[in-house]
Parts: sequence; structure tokens; C-alpha cells
Amino acid sequence: MDKRTNNDTPITTELYIDGEIRPAEGERHYNLYNPARPDELVGHAALASPKDVDTAVEASHRAFPLWSGKSYTERAVMLNHIADQLVVDKEDLAFRSRLFCREHGKILKETMLEVSRLGDRFRQAAAYADRLEADEKVSGGPFDTIITRQPRGVAALIVPWNWPLSILGAKLPQALMAGNTVVVKPSHSSALAPSLTLQKIAALLPPGVVNLLTGSADEIGDVLVGHSAVRYVNFTGSVDVGRHVMKMAAENITPVTLELGGNDAAIVCEDAKLDDAAFMRMYLGAFMSTGQICMAIKRLYVHHTRYDEVVKGLTAVCDRMVVGDGLLPETNMGPLNNAKQQKVVRDMIDQARVAGSDVRECGQVPDEELYAKGYFQRPTLVYRPDEELDIVRKEQFGPVLPIMPYENDQEALAKANDSNFGLCSSVWTEDRDHAVSLARQLEAGYTYLNAHGPTAQDGRGPFGGFKQSGIGRNLGYEGVIQFQGYHSISSSSGWLFS
Ligand code: NAD
Repeated sequence: MDKRTNNDTPITTELYIDGEIRPAEGERHYNLYNPARPDELVGHAALASPKDVDTAVEASHRAFPLWSGKSYTERAVMLNHIADQLVVDKEDLAFRSRLFCREHGKILKETMLEVSRLGDRFRQAAAYADRLEADEKVSGGPFDTIITRQPRGVAALIVPWNWPLSILGAKLPQALMAGNTVVVKPSHSSALAPSLTLQKIAALLPPGVVNLLTGSADEIGDVLVGHSAVRYVNFTGSVDVGRHVMKMAAENITPVTLELGGNDAAIVCEDAKLDDAAFMRMYLGAFMSTGQICMAIKRLYVHHTRYDEVVKGLTAVCDRMVVGDGLLPETNMGPLNNAKQQKVVRDMIDQARVAGSDVRECGQVPDEELYAKGYFQRPTLVYRPDEELDIVRKEQFGPVLPIMPYENDQEALAKANDSNFGLCSSVWTEDRDHAVSLARQLEAGYTYLNAHGPTAQDGRGPFGGFKQSGIGRNLGYEGVIQFQGYHSISSSSGWLFS
């Protein structure tokens, strides 16, 4: 029986361009369904056309002189105001969190966290105002030079479905703080709560500074990335689409930041502290958001002397987890976001089984009928798989984790680094020097110590990957100045600074 309160009626979201909510050309929409209950309509999002892209980019371009002409302090005041306003209306926060849970699938506790913490990222970017204001001045020799930076213009911000608001928070406030105007394109399969949130933000800024397009990437993606007035593309998503975006941007020599996939290794050392809290952190590092997180543990390497202990501890945590509708308070893990992702994950599990791996599907399923209908997958552990299997080599982006033993540090590092990806990693040990030494040898843009993933993320640290995990960094000070270009202003010595 459906124990949820049943007051959810489908909502409709529109575009936001040039300071107003607007329908898409031809008033087109598409439907979004609940991944836990695929026949339940959650709402309709506007289906933008290439002409809508033009309108949004042109509005953004027109707004650029005004916005870029403001001082960092003025922009910081507006960003802090947005942060305040995003959490002021508790009813609205609850509504957007619930909507987000129903369109995405992830549990309500997580959507509440994502919705309510977005403002923190605006405050973080605003806090760099003084540092951004200060130009570097060099003198001596034949020249005096001011090294300053200037915003780039219209930035296209492209967001995936898995953590749409957190990822937005890693690029939108930074782009604005740097002085750019933006056109944001959320993912087709998580568009409703992001649209309502973006409309709130955009309404607090001058018209055209933030514009929103939802719709089909096939129809509007290339038009947006290849638009001649778009001066920067900040993309988060898969490697294949990132490669394509880079090619499209190359046409106009538009610079890109690409935050792409990962296959994060976690190394559990011989002396790791393995208590209940550590296993819970390990579980969250791998299975939060049903494992659909770029910076999740995707390969777990355990020192052979601790292997059985880790298997036992992690299996016990996974077995406690309740899989079901994310709106229900007892649920710990919701469905995958869509049927395609469910198939990717299930194919990897099937391949591991057929190859003879020891596969253990854990967790509790109170409603088998719901489980069979929605895009669910129990938290799954694969013990000692053949390391050439897809579950080890590829990004699973779902709730399944391979656990492999290793003999010594060299082997653990070699295996961790033997990947086309280089996003994040983690080291679990009681020895601080050993932790830092291993971290320095890992090919990754971020290494967590005794934890892994969003709950352990320091937003002041630049975030991004090596190898096919991407180009550039979001978050931190670097996450702001990527949206600017350097500009040197120079005279002969003794003139500029006299
Ligand atoms: P995706 O690549 O399918 O889509 C990402 C975004 O790109 C969506 O908004 C999509 O509509 C848009 N898009 C698709 N084609 C486009 C085109 N031609 N032009 C412009 N935009 C286009 O990714 P996804 O399935 O939404 O997300 C999952 C992937 O994202 C995983 O690989 C995951 O690792 C990765 N990811 C990376 C990070 C990171 O920070 N490194 C964070 C989250 C997710």
C-alpha cells in the first residue's frame, strides 16, 4: 500500500529568459515520471527550441556589460542575498525537496540536503571578493605591469541529472562572481526542481544575468555550445558527451571546463581503523545517491590482512539498508534515476556473475512489487572479481561495488592508477604520513583521507580530474577565476606606478 501522503499533483515548469518566466517556442513541454513508480507523472518541463537558445544567449549577452561592470563587492552582496533567500521560505524548501525526490528517485533526506545547502556555495564564492579585487602589480626591469583578469562573457553551464543542484552550486555562483552572465541547461531527466530553484535565483538578479533552458540535448545542446556569443562552456557529465562538447566548442575556440566520469579507487591500508563509523563512511562513499555520484568509491582495494573484516563490516551495513520509494522515511536507498542507468548497472552485475564472481545483493526490500516496477537495484557487493571485468574497469554509476585484496602499497597504487579516469580517490589508514605519501602518488584531482565523497568534500579545494575525468577545476578560488581570462596592462618602467 502507498503510505505516502497523496497531495502531489503534476507541476509545469517553463523557461526563464531575460528576467521573466517564458514558455518555450510553440509552448512545448515533455513529461517527467517518478523513477520509483515509472507510471506516476511528476510534471512537465518546457521543451526549448534552437530559437529559444538564441533568445537566451542574446539576453545573456545584452546583460553582460551591466553585470561585469559591477564591483566584486557588489556582486558578493547579491550572491549573499541569494543565499539568504534560498532558505527563507521553509514551505518552499520542503516542496522543492519533495519534488526533487519524486523526479530523481534519491531519498528525501538527500534532496533536502542538496536543496537547502545550495546557498552555502553562493556564500563561498562571495567570500573571495577581496582576493579577486586585488590585481597583481609587477615592476623593475623595462616595464611596469598590472596583471588583472576579466570575465569572459556568456557562460553556458551544463548540468547532469545525478546531483543537479550541488553541481550547479559548483559553477553558477563562481561564474556570476567572476562577472559572467549565464545560460544554464539542466539535464532532461532532472529538470523540475532545478528549474524552480534557478527561477528563484534569476529573479533576484538583473534581467538576463541568469537564463534557463530545459529540453532535449539532441535539439538544443550543439546550438548552445556552438553559439558564437557563448564565450565559455562549463560541462559536467559523461566522457562521451564531454568529448563531443569539446569538439563543438572548438569551432569557435570556446574554452571548456569538463567535469567527467570517474572510477575512484579507495585503498584500505593494513592499519586502517575499521569500526562501525568507518564502515558507514565507506558505505556512504560508495552508495550515497544510489551510487550515482561522480566522486563515489567505485573500486575498493583492501590490504589482504583486513580483507575478510572489510567484507564482513560493509556487507553488514549494506544489509541494514532499506531499498524503496525515497519519500518514505524508512528508505535508505531509492531507485536509479532512469531505465538506461539501471540496465548499465544490471549488465555489469550479470557479467560478473556469468564470469563466476561472488556477487552478493544486500539490503531489505519491503515492497517487492514496487521494486520490480521501479528502476531499483539493491546495494550489491562483488567479492574478488576478475579485475578485467567491466565492474572494475568501467564506471558503474550505481549501487554495486567490487572489493579486491592487495598485497602491498606498490600493488595498490599500480591498480588504483591503472585507469583512464583520474577523478577522486581515498586512503584509509591511521598513519598520517603514510596517508599523504600514498595520496601524492595517486593520479586523481582529489584524495579524501578516511572518508570518500560529497560528505567529505571541502568546497575550498579545487575539484576536477586528470586523464579522461576532465579538464579544469570547479569550486575554490580556481573555480571562480576559470571564468576569467588574464589581461596584462603595461607601460615602460617608472610611468604606471609612479
Ligand atoms: P550526460 O553526459 O549524458 O549529460 C550531461 C549533460 O549534458 C546533460 O545536461 C545533457 O542533457 C547534456 N548534453 C547531452 N548532449 C549534449 C550536447 N550535444 N551538447 C550539450 N549538452 C549536452 O551525463 P549524465 O548521464 O547526465 O550524468 C552522468 C555522468 O556525469 C557520469 O559519467 C558521471 O560520472 C558524470 N558526472 C561527473 C561529475 C564531475 O564532477 N566530474 C559530476 C557528476 C556527474
